Amino acid sequence: MHFLDQLNAASVADFVALLDGTYEHSPWIAERAAAARPFASLAALKVALARVVREATVDEQLGLIRAHPELAGKAAVAGELTAESTNEQSKAGLTACTPEEFAKLQELNAAYNARFGFPFILAVRGPRGLGLTRQEIIATFERRLRAHPDLERAECLRQIHRIAEIRLNDKCGLQPARGQQLWDWAAELARHSDDAEFLTCTYATPAHTAVAEQLMAWMRDCGFDDVHRDAVGNVVGVYHGTAGATAGQRLLTGSHFDTVRRAGRFDGRLGIFVPMLVVRDLHRAGRRLPFGLEVVGFSEEECQRFPADFLASSAVIGAFDADWLARTDAAGITLADAMRAAGLPGSNDAIQALRRDPAHYLGFVEVHIEQGPVLDSLDLPLGIVTSINGSRRYTGEVIGLASHAGTTPMGQRRDAAAGVAELILFCEQRAAAVPDVVGTVGMLEVPSGSINVIPGRCRFSLDLRATTDAARDALDADVRAKLDEICQRRGLSFTLQPTLAANAAPSHPAWQARWEAAVTALGLPLHRLPSGAGHDAMKLHELLPQAMLFVRGGNGGISHNPLESVTVDDAELAVAAFEHLIENLHV
Ligand SMILES: [Zn+2]
Repeated sequence: MHFLDQLNAASVADFVALLDGTYEHSPWIAERAAAARPFASLAALKVALARVVREATVDEQLGLIRAHPELAGKAAVAGELTAESTNEQSKAGLTACTPEEFAKLQELNAAYNARFGFPFILAVRGPRGLGLTRQEIIATFERRLRAHPDLERAECLRQIHRIAEIRLNDKCGLQPARGQQLWDWAAELARHSDDAEFLTCTYATPAHTAVAEQLMAWMRDCGFDDVHRDAVGNVVGVYHGTAGATAGQRLLTGSHFDTVRRAGRFDGRLGIFVPMLVVRDLHRAGRRLPFGLEVVGFSEEECQRFPADFLASSAVIGAFDADWLARTDAAGITLADAMRAAGLPGSNDAIQALRRDPAHYLGFVEVHIEQGPVLDSLDLPLGIVTSINGSRRYTGEVIGLASHAGTTPMGQRRDAAAGVAELILFCEQRAAAVPDVVGTVGMLEVPSGSINVIPGRCRFSLDLRATTDAARDALDADVRAKLDEICQRRGLSFTLQPTLAANAAPSHPAWQARWEAAVTALGLPLHRLPSGAGHDAMKLHELLPQAMLFVRGGNGGISHNPLESVTVDDAELAVAAFEHLIENLHV
């Protein structure tokens, strides 16, 4: 009998016994999860177990954490090293520490215990499942030592769930092979970087071209019928449907392969790999779908090198602005010249020809790492995107009077920074009062400020986002009215320059429902959330019905950061969800 069937059919006592050792000395977790049976999948069981822990008392959670042995207790200094064990030194092997590493671990362990009062928990097999290096373990220890105690307790619990996940996989003999392939592709692609130390892959650099070439080679290996790099540098792979090369509609999908500076490996690229793996398996099975699949690796989304937002997806929807070709990067190179240097034609006509005819497409779907903490905090691997937030951005300046900090009485000041401070607090309260609305002042500066001078000027930025244009505009109107009121009351004046306005892109209901059906079919609970970040789907929205699927990011969901992380198990689920969507797409 399959392990999952055994679990579903067992008595509570047998269920607990079968799961013995999944969670360290804590049978109460399995006991409580038993009531949630039957589990449709192993993923459903994992989510149910995590939910029990999330809903337990803080004392129970701490008891679970304290049931684990100290990581540093497992460490040992390497003895006489054979040639073989020297080779393994770069792998985890905490038993093969150098004396320095051993001392460092003991020191971190003592500091950690003093700060938190519970042992440091880390799933040392890591997101790939093969083991973190000792350097990675020590770096994680150092980073987490600085965390807030409540957040650190939550992170320990998530690490415990990861340990349990790996143990469950071992019990079932489950290998998330497609997730592992995705992870390995991401690691391989991250070797191409503009920067020696971190992953940076900006538009039309040699690293960027190398990534495009590698993607094309992998797409060919996967069995795509047509693979090419288009005039704007997008990598396009087409897998024909039963109707062949020219007839029938296609499903468009994909995401971007450029990155921010000091990026993570999965932002964008995950959404290219997922459909590639599905095509690989279709090809291996010798199968065609009733429609074609067109996977686009968008060459530019992050707007890092040239001031031209979403230039790649803009080209695909016919919104590429010819004036962008003359725009320059920090080194004064025009976009057209950068394109030519990267082997692209750099011609507006060729780019305009990339516009897709919506009549030939069913819609656009995109899989993307969440880039936020929501799914990670809920212990859910996948989330359904309801809308990509609309935004408005401004840069502004409040002008008061710079005067002597000692001699100007409090009632006679015109303090520009205090006025902006009031605006920030209003923005925070106003945004928090409405679900799925966010407001941020991310830049704040008192030009030429001094410790003994009342701020005469204060520059700031404003970033307002919401799931609907109406909610965004209401927030925008209230924040601007408040700024006006603050300045009048405080005897200040202000300037406010709009720098960006983007409309919200709500998911198409039928396509969102397809993602929901896919997630449900995997046995996972549905969690719907807006996307606070912009994505290629936001541009494609102007041409085609679209919907996105989010994948949980590890390390609290951090993104645009080398700590960005996805487990192979979550990647596997994303591939399965995509596969379900296309297999159940009846055209
Ligand atoms: Zn992205």
